[in-house]
Amino acid sequence: MLRQFDGQRLVIATHNVGKLREFRELLAPYVRSIVSSGELHLPEPEETGTTFAENAILKAMQAAKLADDVALADDSGLCVTALNNQPGIYSARWGGPTKDFAAAMKRVHVEMGDTADRSAHFICVLALAWPDGHHEILEGRIDGHIIWPPRGDKGHGYDPFFVPQGHDRTFGEMDGDEKNAISHRGVAVHKLIARLRKL
Ligand code: IMP
Repeated sequence: MLRQFDGQRLVIATHNVGKLREFRELLAPYVRSIVSSGELHLPEPEETGTTFAENAILKAMQAAKLADDVALADDSGLCVTALNNQPGIYSARWGGPTKDFAAAMKRVHVEMGDTADRSAHFICVLALAWPDGHHEILEGRIDGHIIWPPRGDKGHGYDPFFVPQGHDRTFGEMDGDEKNAISHRGVAVHKLIARLRKL
């Protein structure tokens, strides 16, 4: 059941300035005022969920309750078919405290070995939550395959070894606009915009 959002103020439940900038750019035409949980000095919840949706919902609900306003959170990651969809919700953690994604990609590569199935996908789940606990989720997914060695330095995280379906280049070799047009995050955000437009 869709809930009316008055478009006045939206709290983005993130302490990540890069994510906040992206959301501000994308959502500016639909929301009068955007503030982040970092700017409000709200604590960051521990991501104790077992799915992307659970983690996105817990981040959005905590921010909505503490800020007493509608809040948006996201959770995303890479799922490799041959590794039972790992690293999945642990994608950020595989980078370790230094966020070393060269090492995380190497770990994926080593664990995949010479398995024939190179398929993988990225998922992004957005959660929109209200202070009374009502919440809605929107999901984006992009399928593709893993290559080795990694190529390109334009992206972040696992971008350099992921080739989206129907393309020859990795996400790491694509400009932001090109990637956003097809990526899991781009798809989820466009669903959210369509959702906000309907109101
Ligand atoms: P979180 O959603 O901030 O918990 O972290 C998601 C993690 O998944 C990031 O730290 C990246 O490692 C990985 N990830 C998510 N989306 C992408 C992407 O578009 N490209 C590369 N890596 C990504």
